[in-house]
Amino acid sequence: MATINGVLGPIDTEDLGFTLMHEHILIANWSMRQAFADWVDLEQVIAHAASELVKAKEVGVRTVADLTPINIGRDIHVIREVAARAGMNVIASTGLYYHEEPWLEAWPPEKLVDWLIRDIQDGIQGTDSRAALIKCATNQAGVTDFNKKLLQTAARLHRATGVPISTHTDVHCRSGLGQQDVFEQEGVDLSRVVIGHCGDSDDVDYLEEILARGSTIGMDRFGLDMILPTEKRVHVIAELCRRGHAGQMVLSHDACCHIDFFPGMTPAVQAAMVPNWNFRHVPSDVVPALRKNGVSEEQIRAMTVDNPRRIFEKQGAY
Ligand SMILES: [Zn+2]
Repeated sequence: MATINGVLGPIDTEDLGFTLMHEHILIANWSMRQAFADWVDLEQVIAHAASELVKAKEVGVRTVADLTPINIGRDIHVIREVAARAGMNVIASTGLYYHEEPWLEAWPPEKLVDWLIRDIQDGIQGTDSRAALIKCATNQAGVTDFNKKLLQTAARLHRATGVPISTHTDVHCRSGLGQQDVFEQEGVDLSRVVIGHCGDSDDVDYLEEILARGSTIGMDRFGLDMILPTEKRVHVIAELCRRGHAGQMVLSHDACCHIDFFPGMTPAVQAAMVPNWNFRHVPSDVVPALRKNGVSEEQIRAMTVDNPRRIFEKQGAY
């Protein structure tokens, strides 16, 4: 029996089931929260997020990976409470977002690893919830010297712990390939990396370049139709399945139950602006659309159940 660390304790990988590999329960700036007690209404966020997870459970979701990095407000106490109330398997991550924060300037990767490794080995924020994914991110600027340092940090943390890497990219600058270059230089087995937000692209050649190097690609922004509509996202996945890549894709939404990036973004406003950006769109709408586009049950199972399980089961430092 293989187990991985969920936020409420070890999960038998057999029980992971239908897994959303890239979501967020809460994104809220720590400094603003510290300065202004009412920056975020935690009780409201927890109640809303728990109900979102319950609704996802009702349509078959069994596990949700929360990929919120430390420096955009990962709050393990909130994540634990939401997971407990909803009765959902939730997996937390460690790692740093792409922001060039002043304090990070003088820190070399190995010194950052010394801190981040505690999230994986000891637990997050004084709890026994241990991170089971390593998040890193590259912005529109691509892999700059500063960004390279953060990718190296993720790579070294991965090599020290065996915990898989899952990334944020901007497909318009094809940064998935730049990320793979850094990971390769750092001796990372690219099959243990999920290159995220690939679903924003309909450039099948670009996606196949990433796939050819062994990584899984995250088709993980369903519901963000202003970037690429669902229909186009589905067509790309169907085409990649036809070309034999179902074993290297995972599905998700990158949805946030609460996000402070936009003023006035209440759950009601969010539901009106991006009605499908929630934890149910993939099981309720995307999976039926994939079937209609010729994707087989076996391929759907690969992308939603087997591939996530395999990614988590490949453990071990090197
Ligand atoms: Zn995300």
